[in-house]
Amino acid sequence: MKIDRRNFLLLAALVAAANTFAFGQGNARPTVLERNVRAGMQFLAGDALQGRGSGTIFERIAAEYIGSQFMQFGLEPAGETDAAGSRTFVQTVSVPGREALTDLRFGGDGLSQLKFGRDIIAFSIGARSISGELMKLRPGETARSGAVVLLMLEPDSKFEDIQPAIAKMQQAGAAAILMAETKEIRENWPSVAERKIPISRRGTLLAVSSAAAAALAGIADGTRIELTGTFAVGPATYTWNAMGKITGTDPALASEVILISSHLDHLGVRDATPGDDKIFNGADDDASGTVAVIELARALASGTKPKRTVYFVCFGSEEAGGHGARHFIENMPFPKEKLIANLEFEMIGRPDPKVGADELWLTGYERTDLGPELAKRGAKIVADPHPEQNFFTRSDNYQLARAGIIAQTVSSFGLHTDYHKVTDEVRTIDFVHMTRSINSMVDPVIWLANSDFRPKWNEGKRP
Ligand SMILES: [Zn+2]
Repeated sequence: MKIDRRNFLLLAALVAAANTFAFGQGNARPTVLERNVRAGMQFLAGDALQGRGSGTIFERIAAEYIGSQFMQFGLEPAGETDAAGSRTFVQTVSVPGREALTDLRFGGDGLSQLKFGRDIIAFSIGARSISGELMKLRPGETARSGAVVLLMLEPDSKFEDIQPAIAKMQQAGAAAILMAETKEIRENWPSVAERKIPISRRGTLLAVSSAAAAALAGIADGTRIELTGTFAVGPATYTWNAMGKITGTDPALASEVILISSHLDHLGVRDATPGDDKIFNGADDDASGTVAVIELARALASGTKPKRTVYFVCFGSEEAGGHGARHFIENMPFPKEKLIANLEFEMIGRPDPKVGADELWLTGYERTDLGPELAKRGAKIVADPHPEQNFFTRSDNYQLARAGIIAQTVSSFGLHTDYHKVTDEVRTIDFVHMTRSINSMVDPVIWLANSDFRPKWNEGKRP
């Protein structure tokens, strides 16, 4: 049918009416509401969810809540099929138990009474048993290959300052480095003692109590020191991903997928934390990114269906090794080459003073043409101002990027000191910033979901 001017005006009026009906306010596009952002944050990062510990029932409740939101918006379920045969919005992922250090004992020489957990803790362990000649060194001194180094530190030494010296000793081939207790180590002692440490290529880095350091200091340099670890495989556990989708409408583009993601877990409750508050609420990390995914799902589901298919996925167990994302990548519900781009949202709850007001940054901005294209469409995103932090490699997006997929993280994390602390709470969230930030991504994401633009890696920038 040929459209004449009268028909065109009628059509325009109908489209306007449809938009008014769909969005309730006569807007041409949905607007992210601060009250919805607050509602999501208060539930996910409130004390009732106990910090959404990776693989805990609270992580599952978070996933079920997100799935329930997706269902209300009219998304299609993309999780597992339940016993009654209905597709759900949650995917249960089994995580095999892994081998971790359960005990570490000195052999001989009057050190055998030193107890793992009480006198010695492990930051990383590189072998089942370790032996070498004792060397007592201060930061900056040179280790011999194969030595067991007692690293003598001042009580006020900060790990950040001595880390380069430790790295040098490890490069020189030290078999193990035993840091003498500092105030900072003492503060972190209970939480490090609780960690499940697997054997890793990061080498053996231990800390010893002041009493143990004194005992070691009384032994002559060159004495052979032996350390034997006991390892046990922990039980298999589960983690949960929340998954919803909107199937694209364009016959040519519907098979292409845009993935909008976050991680829904955080550090849970840690009883060994000093002070009364033991709950790691993870408001910024990453309830904020999860609420961004929820609100983008709400926005996209309320408008005209996009041409491309859009998946909204909140991964479980990012904080515990990225199990949810790994399972997703290894069992993608569509052919891998159809995944056009992944935007991961991480820590957007507070503005980053290093960039402009209400700006977000994109990890790996210079690696692809995706960021600049989104910015052209109104996204307030700029290059990551903290390249030294390697954020590109520190979130779930990296697993996808290593599989060749354009996968980048949107954030405004300004390196605040509440990161991974019990103080990452809802009261620290800047809701005006957060709402505007999510809002600024609505149009660019709608554009991406409706275009045939395929982002590319810049020359030599693919990881
Ligand atoms: Zn985190």
